Amino acid sequence: MTKIKCGLEIHGYVNVENKTKLFCNCSIDENAKPNTNICPICTAMPGSKPMLANKEAVDKIIAIALMLGCKVNKKMLFQRKHYSWPDLPAGYQKTISGSYSNPVGVNGKFLGIKIADVHLEEDPARWDPVTGEVDYNRSGTPLVEIVTEPDFESTNQLRDWLKSLLTTLNYIKAINKNAGVKADTNVSIEPNFNRVEVKNVNSFSNIVKAAEYEILRQEESLKEGKKIEQETRAFDEKNNKTVFMRSKEQAADYMFIPEPDLPVIKIDDKYIERIRKTLPEKPDEKIKRLTREYKIKKEDAFVLCSDIVLSELFEKVTKKVSAEIAARWLRFELLRVLNYHKKELEEVKLDEKNLIELLLLVENKKITEPTAKKLIEKLVEKPFDVKKYVKQEKLESISDTDELEQICKDVIKNNQKVVDDYKNGRKEALNYLVGQVMRTTKGKASPKELNELFKKLID
Ligand SMILES: [Zn+2]
Repeated sequence: MTKIKCGLEIHGYVNVENKTKLFCNCSIDENAKPNTNICPICTAMPGSKPMLANKEAVDKIIAIALMLGCKVNKKMLFQRKHYSWPDLPAGYQKTISGSYSNPVGVNGKFLGIKIADVHLEEDPARWDPVTGEVDYNRSGTPLVEIVTEPDFESTNQLRDWLKSLLTTLNYIKAINKNAGVKADTNVSIEPNFNRVEVKNVNSFSNIVKAAEYEILRQEESLKEGKKIEQETRAFDEKNNKTVFMRSKEQAADYMFIPEPDLPVIKIDDKYIERIRKTLPEKPDEKIKRLTREYKIKKEDAFVLCSDIVLSELFEKVTKKVSAEIAARWLRFELLRVLNYHKKELEEVKLDEKNLIELLLLVENKKITEPTAKKLIEKLVEKPFDVKKYVKQEKLESISDTDELEQICKDVIKNNQKVVDDYKNGRKEALNYLVGQVMRTTKGKASPKELNELFKKLID
């Protein structure tokens, strides 16, 4: 296999609770009508000056840097990054990056990949090249940029890593999930490792697709005896391929200068420690701990830890319910119901006390699994007292074997042909008989128990 080197520059919208832009008090609202959340600052009117940077955004970037194992710089300098494009009213972007800057975080490492730089910058406006219209609602929204070293050696590694990165950022609600992420992906292959950059790829799956295509393209070029040039390309989403944008000679010079209208942000160790103390356990550490502490399968721990709220619910539930049952029911049944409703766990009013009651009924075999599945569906919709409901609706499983035996005998009597089929070797005929009892008892008998019972009665 060809040796590859791949690195990422990932952009995401910083999730600030105060929903305010980086250098003005305009609100951030993706659904607002065009050009309604604007002011002289974010439209760069002549003479306007930025306000001090949104403190919440700065703190979030520090939190991200710490989660990714970075060293946090104590002096942060905004710079003007100059380029000419219709979405940039000032003619420059304010960013804590560039030639004279100290990015917020440096020298990090996240799941084996070195992090070169984590920094904060403002988003430009949105320009529609077809109509020529510019929407300034987005202008000045805080963005995080995460730059990795070219440490990825395969696209599988890239895919897994991106997934873990997103989970980790979601643990601290660092980025706006709905807005998605974008990335510039650089890909180079042996023997010369000339760097090709694919600009502005949106969505995680496209980032991986762009890298996959680029590796193939470069391999093919080499086979044809061509040289791989350093260049910038774009990803054509419709045709799943990358297309040439510009060569290295045409690379932009951003003419960075320190931003004269903003003071240098200075923080101390205490400030950094205060933020560090608010951070949760990292997902990969949590997966290891849950596997060890609760003796659950690694795949279960992996799924449970894909959502911090789910993993916390698991740990609360296991205080009362066996870890095996909690892991299985949260991982499969709860997620099944949430997926069906297209909801996140934090969006539903699931009361953990109700859930514990339900799982205890399962654990003690007071209700059957089919009954429990129906109950968990109801629980996701609204909280209710599970124990009381089970009593009221008479949903307890039928454990009285005499009663069950009588029902089974009736089913056998009324389905003689099916019984004969079974006797003649059609094993699946038994499922039909079990199904009949399940119907009569409204799912209150255990299918496993019924199987045994029928075998005993017929043989
Ligand atoms: Zn504004």
